[in-house]
Amino acid sequence: MTETKYVYLDYAATTPMDPRVIEEINKHFKESYGNTSSLHSIGQKAGQLLEKSRKTIADLINADRQDIIFTSSGTEADNIAITGVALQNMDRGNHVITSAIEHHAVENPCKQWDKRGLEVTFLPVDKYGLISVDDLENAISDQTILISIMFANNEIGTIEPIKEIGAIAKENDIIFHTDAVQAFGKIPIDVEEMNIDLLSASAHKIYGPKGIGLLYMKNKGIKKGIGKYIRPIMWGGGHEKDMRPSTVAVPLIAGFAKTVEIAKEEMDVEAKRQVKLRDRIINWVLENIDDTSLNGHPTQRLPNNVNISFKYIEGESIVLDLDIDGIGVSTGSACSSKSLEPSHVLLAIGLRPEEAHGSMRATIGRFTTEDEIDYFLKKLPHVIERLRKMSPLKKGVKYMFDDASETDQKDI
Ligand code: PLP
Repeated sequence: MTETKYVYLDYAATTPMDPRVIEEINKHFKESYGNTSSLHSIGQKAGQLLEKSRKTIADLINADRQDIIFTSSGTEADNIAITGVALQNMDRGNHVITSAIEHHAVENPCKQWDKRGLEVTFLPVDKYGLISVDDLENAISDQTILISIMFANNEIGTIEPIKEIGAIAKENDIIFHTDAVQAFGKIPIDVEEMNIDLLSASAHKIYGPKGIGLLYMKNKGIKKGIGKYIRPIMWGGGHEKDMRPSTVAVPLIAGFAKTVEIAKEEMDVEAKRQVKLRDRIINWVLENIDDTSLNGHPTQRLPNNVNISFKYIEGESIVLDLDIDGIGVSTGSACSSKSLEPSHVLLAIGLRPEEAHGSMRATIGRFTTEDEIDYFLKKLPHVIERLRKMSPLKKGVKYMFDDASETDQKDI
């Protein structure tokens, strides 16, 4: 019996590790086990590897090595950014601006603080998922201490106007955090040029290990005119610049550095290759399967993201049926895809709950081949046809959104 390879198209949820990264980590699990706080040579050797890795990673985003702290995940970095800034700056102001389409790792800390000491503005987005910089400027008050807008959305791939947002934040002396978990290592980021004060990233989205992330803090968390603008949210030993205690996971960080090294070398070529595959899927589906529409921006989107709504069926059924065919896609964000609530991102771009429920996200990556896309596009129409045949919501039957004016999603 020949074993068919599973076609994994869920790289936004997490990525398989690059074998070069596995090799690097394995080496350091053996060799670099020391505690970076120890005075002996084993500890010092681990400390040197930590600083070398920090430098490699910082260079990718044009940051100073000293301004990177390692965390256990993107979620932890987001929580330190939101809560650390809120706690440190409450005497200066109580207002935070974020967007309606943030990942739960930003949305939920903001909600925790909303009305418990902070007022949070969730900026709306347009049909492509873009915030308006005019809305942002209008939302700013003398109480605003933080703007947190994601670099690129995890569900629909839309890339926000980060440079403009950074300029507005700078002009108004407001701290600017961006959740770059989906963008880091995939598209160019320059924290200086974009005036980013705080940035979160995670290794497992770019072929690195799970369990390691980072927070970039400009100028070690000190800002002219404001002074210290962030404080820790956990207390323990003095690791990671007194911002994030706990023995440092040096082998994972060395693996993170390896992923970054590879990303630096391959980003340009790989992004172009993925855009081709991405657009091939999008164009083929929109042309060949009726009642479909693209979610997210047609061009200002991550090279690896496809998100399409299929009328009359449920995204969950598409995921389960494709899985039987050996193809892994997702619906909504992987972290919340077991929830029956429609995605807050798809609702925010104006989809009705029925349309949001019929969405499928396919995200490609370094190991995705043309052959895999051939196989996916061969199987997908059959799955859609089969599900539509079984659906009580099928075409011709009066359906909640049949009468409503069509969304103009398709003319993009
Ligand atoms: N932010 C975004 C935009 C994400 O896509 C994710 C993960 O899906 C996270 C934060 C959380 O990252 P982690 O899984 O490293 O906690």
